[in-house]
Parts: sequence; structure tokens; C-alpha cells
Amino acid sequence: MQGHDYLARAMLGDNQARVFALRTTEVVKTAHGHHQTTPVATAALGRTLTMGLVLGAMLKGDETISLQIKGDGPLGGIVVSANSKGSVKGYVGNPHVDLPFSAAGKLDVGTAVGKGNLHVIRDLGLKEAYQGTVPLQTGEIGEDFAYYFMNSEQTPSAVGLGVLVGVDGVPISSGGLIVQLLPDAVADEEFIGSLERALSQMPAVSSLFAEDMSVEDVVESVFQGIPVRFIGKEDVRFLCDCSWERFEQALMTLGTEELQELVAAGETIETVCHFCNKRYDFTLDQLNMILVELGNTRE
Ligand SMILES: [Zn+2]
Repeated sequence: MQGHDYLARAMLGDNQARVFALRTTEVVKTAHGHHQTTPVATAALGRTLTMGLVLGAMLKGDETISLQIKGDGPLGGIVVSANSKGSVKGYVGNPHVDLPFSAAGKLDVGTAVGKGNLHVIRDLGLKEAYQGTVPLQTGEIGEDFAYYFMNSEQTPSAVGLGVLVGVDGVPISSGGLIVQLLPDAVADEEFIGSLERALSQMPAVSSLFAEDMSVEDVVESVFQGIPVRFIGKEDVRFLCDCSWERFEQALMTLGTEELQELVAAGETIETVCHFCNKRYDFTLDQLNMILVELGNTRE
């Protein structure tokens, strides 16, 4: 029996590295429920959702972050959005992509994603946004983010992401373990050596989180022999914040003329949220109401 989903923060050694460890089994199950992803799509989306929560945990206050993986593979890209409060949402272009296993007998996430770029967009509020872009390394997501941290943020990092998926595409377990070297430790060869040993002996992340262990137990088991100090924990969840009002706002941006044409053609409008597949249908009456509102705001 796995525990609930949460993220734990820890420091290693004499504050030489920081760790983000999290179980995301329920997060990825919810995503699968919304999108009916095939096993390889579940793995790709699950790894990226897990990474979104880690990057979200690095934010402050009302900041949000978007991850866009734009690859040329049959998955058709991945979009994930997260905030600093442990909420994440996401989707893939083609949730029904089906691929044979890789030569190593694994879900072939790298082939599904293909070649392309990883974009990280941090929205710091007040219309201020920071964007970092790096080329995809393997499309396996973990290596791609390790490369991003090194090249965009100059932070040496080890990124382990894993989703264990059943044949029906439903995740059995999911989690992540991210270690980042802090500036003072970069020249500490002894500490780096012990860290590298621990990481080289680490079992697959998905199997670690499949067991009846707390997130803290997982961290302790990976970093045996290195002092671990836990400094916080936060619940995480898949949560879409879409609403009828938000789609109404989007329709308003079409403008009076275009909406009048739709009403004249007697068309209702069906909109679907990419992130959670919820449908919002606008009837002719409702479209007329929006036109009245648009008229009022003009005056
Ligand atoms: Zn939604």
C-alpha cells in the first residue's frame, strides 16, 4: 500500500546538496483518467507532471511555471503547468500513441517524444516571464531536465523520474528524485564521490515508489551513509483550474463581429479544456448574453 502523494525537501551532507523527492502515483492516475493515455503516453506525461511539481516547488508565492516539450515524435508534444502550491495539470498532443517496447524492453518514451526543444517558462506575475530553452537530449524527460538545469541554471543536477505503467495504461506507481549540488559543494570531491556512488547504485525510481515506503524512506534508502536532513513536505495533486467564466472570457476575445456571425449562423459553441477534457458548451442564448456584455463594456 503506497502512501498519499507528497513532495519532501531535504538537505544532504553539510548543506552541500538539496533533494526534492515526491510520490505522484495519484497525480498520474488522475491524468490518465482525464486523457485515457496509452502506456507510453502515461509514462511521458507522468514524468513531465512530476517534473512540473518539482519546478513548482522551487517557485515563490503566486508564481507559476509551464513546461513545453516540443518534439517531432508521434506523441505530438507535452504541456504541463504547475504552481508553487503543489498543483499541476498537463496533456500530451496524442494520448493514444502506441509504440513497441525499446530494445531494453522498456516503454519507449524517447521515440514517442522525438527530437526538438524543451521550453521552461516561469511566470513571475506582473507580466514578467522568464523563458529557458534547451535542445532535447534523449526525449526521456529526466536527462532533458538534468541538461536544462546545467545549461540554463548552471546547477549540476541528477534527475530520476519513473512511472510504472500497467498494460491498460493505468499507472501503478510514479515518483521522482532530484538532487542538486549547491555552489559550495562543487569542488568537494569527497562529497561528490559519495553522492555519485549512491546514485549509481540507485534502483529504478518507479520501483522505489511502488513499494510500501514513505517518500522519506526512499530518500534515506538511496543516500545511505550520507547525512540527510528533511526540511519540509507538501501535498501534491493534479488540479485543473478551468471554469465556464474562463472560457467565456476566451470567447469574448473573439470580438463582437465574429460572435455575431456565429449567432447568425445559429451555431452553439463547444469548447473543451485541453488539460482536463472538461466540456463547456455555449448555447445561442448564452452567446447572445456575451454579446450584450461585450456591448456594455464598449460604452
Ligand atoms: Zn480543465
